[in-house]
This record gives sequence, structure tokens and C-alpha cells, in this order.
Amino acid sequence: MGLGSPDLGGEVSRRFEIFDGKAFLNDAESPHLLRFLPRARFDAFLLDAAAKAGCRVERGEFRGLSEGAAVVDGRVVRFKCLVGADGVFSAVARAIGESLPQKSLAVGLQADVPRAGRVSDLHAARIFFGYLELGWGWAFPKGDTICIGLGGIPGTREDVSAVFRRLLADCEVANAGTLPIRGAKLPNEEYLREPASGNVFLCGDAAGFAEPLTGEGIHAALLSGILAAESILGGTGAEERYNEACRKQVTPIFGQARLARSLLFREPFRTLALRRFKRGKGAMRRFLGVLAGESDYKRFFLDSLLGR
Ligand SMILES: Cc1cc2nc3c(=O)[nH]c(=O)nc-3n(C[C@H](O)[C@H](O)[C@H](O)COP(=O)(O)OP(=O)(O)OC[C@H]3O[C@@H](n4cnc5c(N)ncnc54)[C@H](O)[C@@H]3O)c2cc1C
Repeated sequence: MGLGSPDLGGEVSRRFEIFDGKAFLNDAESPHLLRFLPRARFDAFLLDAAAKAGCRVERGEFRGLSEGAAVVDGRVVRFKCLVGADGVFSAVARAIGESLPQKSLAVGLQADVPRAGRVSDLHAARIFFGYLELGWGWAFPKGDTICIGLGGIPGTREDVSAVFRRLLADCEVANAGTLPIRGAKLPNEEYLREPASGNVFLCGDAAGFAEPLTGEGIHAALLSGILAAESILGGTGAEERYNEACRKQVTPIFGQARLARSLLFREPFRTLALRRFKRGKGAMRRFLGVLAGESDYKRFFLDSLLGR
């Protein structure tokens, strides 16, 4: 089963829309498919693929290291290499003395809601500006449901839950004031420059690998997982190989994204950017190019300034 298979559920679209509050600004067609997956189905697919590739899959909670072995629940598990892909509060990272500072983390809230109101016929990625001063909202179609969310970057002083409920109400979601919402932290300001230390390799959120402007972390998590596996399979020098590969392939965009973020979320740049998005589809297409990894923020701003 490939990623293009409908068995993973969710929805596929090319349409990308930008709103300023309730006001539609513009839309564009992405040259690449945008895929919106239910996360549990995607995780199950990855686990199943690992088992089919010959991995022995066991479940348990990593509790720490003891004399060079991993403590998983009550068991001691010896390893040649340990890959920590256990999220933003990684216990594996803590066990080797690494952790991301709390203040560097962004916050994300989301809720899966039935199709109704202003999102009843949504089949596009819809991005909302104009709710948080330092953040943005989204509505993604996932078949029968719509995933609505709001992300605030570090430094956000607003009441993110209250603003999120306003976004839900503006989308005409039933019970917007009382609906159960899920919240989580995600890496933003900081990432590990050396995500491998000895025979321990940190991947994804555990290493702080999420794009600081969009909050996208799935791509970096998958890519760093692949790089860790390739580095380990390459034999001697795996630690240096992985650190170097992450520097070259995972994190180069992060510095630019942080700069782009501080421009997009601050006046007068925010107003200028929203005007640019409204004026034509060029800025939208350029942004989709950055999302697809075909361009970068430097080029995006340069072309936008030159009015291309
Ligand atoms: C609200 C919100 C919305 C987001 N939306 C998007 C999006 O649309 N697109 C995108 O690209 N990114 C999105 N992100 C970011 C994305 O979710 C993360 O970057 C991505 O999930 C990182 O993957 P990961 O495997 O590194 O970590 P996680 O997805 O956090 O997975 C870590 C896994 O490790 C397990 N674990 C934790 N501790 C232990 C332990 N001690 N022992 C054993 N297992 C453990 C956890 O149960 C979990 O299964 C979003 C984040 C948030 C908060």
C-alpha cells in the first residue's frame, strides 16, 4: 500500500485557500497533491510497513537508560543503536541530557468537527490569518470530518483557547464554546544541531525538527527517520553521518522560516503580505512552492518584493 492509496482514509486535494478572519482572500491550485490523513491511520500504516519489512514490533514505554541499555517498562533492552522518535518531550533525549527549552515551544490546538456551517463543503486546505497576532489557523478536510486548528508561536500572550473557540464559532461549528479540543506543544524556536550522540539518534520532534513558520513536522520526522536508518546501516561513523545529513537536508530551511515568520506576523509586513495574497495568485503559488520544497523563503520574499 503506497501513500497515494485511498486505504489510508482522509482526503486529497490541490486547492489551497487563504482567509483573513472570515474574509476570503484568495485561492490557488497546488502543483502537488495535498494529502490530509487521520493521524492514527497513518501511524498504523507505518507500523504495519515496519513489521512487513521484517522488524519485530513490541510495545512499551521507554523509561530511561541503565548501564548503556534501555529500560522499557520493567525490562532491560540491550541495543546497538537507539533511535528516539518519541516526540517533543522525548524521554530518550532527556536520557542523554538533551531537551528543548519549554519557552522555545509553540502551542497547537485542534478539534475534529462534523461537516456543517461554513466548512460543510470544504475540500481544500484553508489557512486563517487575523485570529492570533503570532500564529495562524487552519481547516483541513478529512472525509466526513474537518480538522480545525490554531497554532501560536512562542511569545504569544493571547488566550489561545478563547481565540480558538472564536475561530470555531466563525466556522459555524455547533457547540463551539464547549466542544472538546486537543492541545499539544510542538518544536519551534530551537532544534538540536547534533541530534546524534554516540549510538543514540534523535528524530522528528524529539530533535526539534518542525518548520518554524508552518509548524509542519511530519516531513522532517519522516526524513530524519530515513536519514538515521541510512546512517546506521552505513556502519562506522554513523553519528557524524547523521548529524551532517540533518544539517544538509532537514534544517537548512529553518533559519529562513524563522525570519519569514517574524516578518509575516509583524506589522507592517503582515498587512503587506495579506494585500499581496489578495492581489493575485502569484504569492500563493510561490508559497506552495516553498511548502513543496521547490523554493525557499528567500526567493519567496525577493519575488514578492519585485512583484513577480
Ligand atoms: C495541533 C497540531 C497540529 C499539527 N498539524 C500538522 C500538520 O498538519 N502537518 C505536519 O506536518 N505537522 C503537523 N504538526 C506537527 C507534527 O504533528 C509533529 O511534528 C510530528 O507528529 C512529529 O512526529 P514524531 O514522530 O517526531 O513525534 P510524535 O508524532 O509526537 O510521535 C511520538 C510517538 O512517541 C510515543 N512516545 C512518547 N514518549 C514515549 C516513551 N517514553 N516511550 C515510548 N513511546 C513514546 C508517543 O506516544 C508517540 O506515538 C502538528 C502539531 C500539532 C501540535
